[in-house]
Amino acid sequence: MNTPKRVYLFGNGKAEGSAEMKNLLGGKGANLAEMNLIGVPVPPGFTITTEVCTEYNKLGSAKLREILSDDVHNAIRHIEDLVNMQFGSAENPLLVSVRSGARASMPGMMDTILNLGLNETTIQGLIKKTNNERFAWDSYRRFVQMYSDVVLGLKPESKEEHDPFEVIIDTVKKEKGISSDLELTTEDLKNLVTIFKQTVEEKTGKKFPDDPWEQLWGAIFAVFDSWNNERAKFYRKLNNIPDEWGTAVTVQAMVFGNMGFTSATGVAFTRDAATGENLFNGEYLINAQGEDVVAGIRTPQQITKIGSQRWAKLAGISEEERLSKYPSLEEAMPETYKELFEIQKRLENHYRDMQDMEFTIQEGKLWLLQTRTGKRTGLAMIKIAMDMLREGMIEEKTALKRIDPAKLDELLHPVFTKEGLAKAKVIANGLPASPGAASGQIVFFADEAESWAAAKKKVILVREETSPEDLRGMAVAQGILTARGGMTSHAAVVARGMGKCCVAGAGALQIDYKARTMTVNGKVYKEGDWISLNGSTGQILEGKIDTQDPELSGDFGAVMQLADKYTKMKVRTNADTPKDATVARNFGAQGIGLCRTEHMFFEGERIKAMREMILAEDETGRKKALAKLLPMQKNDFEGIYTAMNGFPVTIRLLDPPLHEFVPQEESAQKEIAEELGIPLEKVKARVASLHEVNPMLGHRGCRLGNTYPEITEMQTRAIIEAALAVKARGISVLPEIMVPLTSTAEEFEMQEDIIRKTAEKVFAEKQDRVDYLVGTMIEIPRAALTADKIAEHAEFFSFGTNDLTQMTFGFSRDDAGVFLPVYLEKNLLKHDPFQIIDREGVGQLVKMGTERGRKTRPDLKVGICGEHGGEPSSVEFCHLVGMNYVSCSPYRVPIARVAAAIAALND
Ligand code: ADP
Ligand code: MG
Ligand code: MG
Repeated sequence: MNTPKRVYLFGNGKAEGSAEMKNLLGGKGANLAEMNLIGVPVPPGFTITTEVCTEYNKLGSAKLREILSDDVHNAIRHIEDLVNMQFGSAENPLLVSVRSGARASMPGMMDTILNLGLNETTIQGLIKKTNNERFAWDSYRRFVQMYSDVVLGLKPESKEEHDPFEVIIDTVKKEKGISSDLELTTEDLKNLVTIFKQTVEEKTGKKFPDDPWEQLWGAIFAVFDSWNNERAKFYRKLNNIPDEWGTAVTVQAMVFGNMGFTSATGVAFTRDAATGENLFNGEYLINAQGEDVVAGIRTPQQITKIGSQRWAKLAGISEEERLSKYPSLEEAMPETYKELFEIQKRLENHYRDMQDMEFTIQEGKLWLLQTRTGKRTGLAMIKIAMDMLREGMIEEKTALKRIDPAKLDELLHPVFTKEGLAKAKVIANGLPASPGAASGQIVFFADEAESWAAAKKKVILVREETSPEDLRGMAVAQGILTARGGMTSHAAVVARGMGKCCVAGAGALQIDYKARTMTVNGKVYKEGDWISLNGSTGQILEGKIDTQDPELSGDFGAVMQLADKYTKMKVRTNADTPKDATVARNFGAQGIGLCRTEHMFFEGERIKAMREMILAEDETGRKKALAKLLPMQKNDFEGIYTAMNGFPVTIRLLDPPLHEFVPQEESAQKEIAEELGIPLEKVKARVASLHEVNPMLGHRGCRLGNTYPEITEMQTRAIIEAALAVKARGISVLPEIMVPLTSTAEEFEMQEDIIRKTAEKVFAEKQDRVDYLVGTMIEIPRAALTADKIAEHAEFFSFGTNDLTQMTFGFSRDDAGVFLPVYLEKNLLKHDPFQIIDREGVGQLVKMGTERGRKTRPDLKVGICGEHGGEPSSVEFCHLVGMNYVSCSPYRVPIARVAAAIAALND
């Protein structure tokens, strides 16, 4: 048996891996290899594959260490040779970082350890070699801190408390009356190391390991373990990343950004991740290590001069002050900046996409530590794709595939109204980290954000800075506000990835977690107070502000045109009113796939007539009430036909059980009785008789129309009369009359018969005709199974995948809230089948129904009108099945258009 290759080396312009090997080496490992191959300076190292992570999960640490031992020793030798240092040496010690990296980027979700290899002996070597005692102890202090957290599992004791180490550091700073970590002396740092190690031993019962090899193995396994930490699991759920993939581990020679004032560390983007502007940008910190920027511990400075000037303007800082206190890297280290600028250009041209890079400058020498496709907002996604297309960097199909359909949703999010903004008071300004408009109540903790949101409250999560632990809270908040950290801080990056409004680094905020308050310029805001965030300008405002629909950019239109060029399916909308129909038309809907008529019966006078119909004793009584409804329905249909101006309109006949239209409370029943002039007892008795044990499976759908044919007659008449009226005004119409909840061909035939006879009657009366189709929803498994028979009469099928999912799984949608979340948590289901179509089960019925239907009627029109019609993966499935169209709610039309086009490109 061949043993698989488990470890891949890189360094000095050579690499065993490459960018193509993301599955095996993780994104980080693959790109570190690739950067070596294209001549970008990267500290040497090696990557242990994702397959080993799977092995580890199966075999455990002892066995794996045995298997991996030789490979890891040789790989460390490889680094030692290239950098001319020795791991564990007392004279010239090699220090390494141990980094996680999955196939798909999961920023900050897993763990990384820096400065590994330090102990009481090796630190002496480091001091001798660098002649920089403070730096050496600072590195050791950082290592003990990270290792204790990640490997030894030391955690804060309560959520109100910081990291226990930060608490210790704060105490020391307070005693000495200093405010910055940079003012800690060598002696302070030395003491901190001792105190830290004691604390770890007291709190975890584990001794801090001194042997570098023990440290290394501990770190490797901890990184593998971090694949299964809670936040990583949650992130995968959120982003549909499979649990089986596993993480790779990269071990890499350390370079030091904390060696003094000619050293620095930073994060940079080739283009603006928030707006998409084609402008190199980023942030850096002098005399710091990588984790400082992301953790938002100090507020970083801008890399470019122009970025720095824009930042100063927002913060109200004068040019003199900016230059003396917060110069850009371009101004502070012009030579290194130039090199960085050239490398970012090279990387973007090489990958042909916006890159997000990490770099460190060690005593003036630049090193790249990571490059990846940058996460971006929906706005930036569109602009960057279209700009790159215009720049000739990518072609049309690639540009289209760069659009994540689900992210278009963000562009359709509301923005504050001008009037609302004019009235609102600005509390403070922060960085515009992720655009959008959000109002909500202040909460200070992620778990509270979750519980408040579960109670249907809108919340803004306010934090000093966020950490990966806060992910769940961020996901449910309307917006995120932080007091510290920059545009590349955790809060900013994650918010942009989620498409969530975020204002970061608002320095004027003083947050007191224990008191649950935020103080700004002397004014105190408490938990529960309303504030608003404008993520596009960085403004923080008092109270709640009205919102309106956003205006869409030209690039948005251009993307839609591209989508239409490559798509095979049409996109229709689900719309019950002329207003919805118009919104959907503006988003490019080509017809209505589902017009639910029952929604028309709830307004004003209509509900009265409807109730009269339901409470009627016999057919005559029902007909009298229906006659009152006819003109109202007809009027609605005219409005909808007009809005759709020639596009097909699928109208579904009455579907829900009748008891939904009558009130259950006695007071309301009394009113009805008086209005209709019948005794209350009668109303009560009728309501009671409508009661069903299982309304979802009861007297509804075509069962109504077959027991009370006069309802189908009235509705058909309204549909056809409206069509003729609109036609007379010169507007073309194509009504498609849809029978709901068919399970047998005979049921459908009876409805069809009523519809056709009624239509002919109307044509004769009006001396005019229109074309129309009669078809059915396929939403009961039996209908899918007998689709060939049903298609003998039905001219179109529309898959009602909400009911079909419900009936195929036997899950009641109204009751699934109890067990579905548990099923998802326990991985009994990969997705919520009501959101993403279950290809394996429900999908088979859809496929079979389509094939059997078309066997009988080759030109059968087939579409979908369940919630799935606006969900990208389900849209792809519909394309693969060969549907003619999908239909979704108006605001999802653009998403479905792009998803359909991408499905066609990938097919
Ligand atoms: P994450 O995936 O959370 O970004 P990383 O593995 O990228 O974790 O590392 C965290 C930080 O440490 C980054 O800023 C990175 O640049 C820095 N870093 C990682 N390895 C090294 C190294 N060998 N030398 C210097 N800095 C490093
Ligand atoms: Mg990183
Ligand atoms: Mg249904």
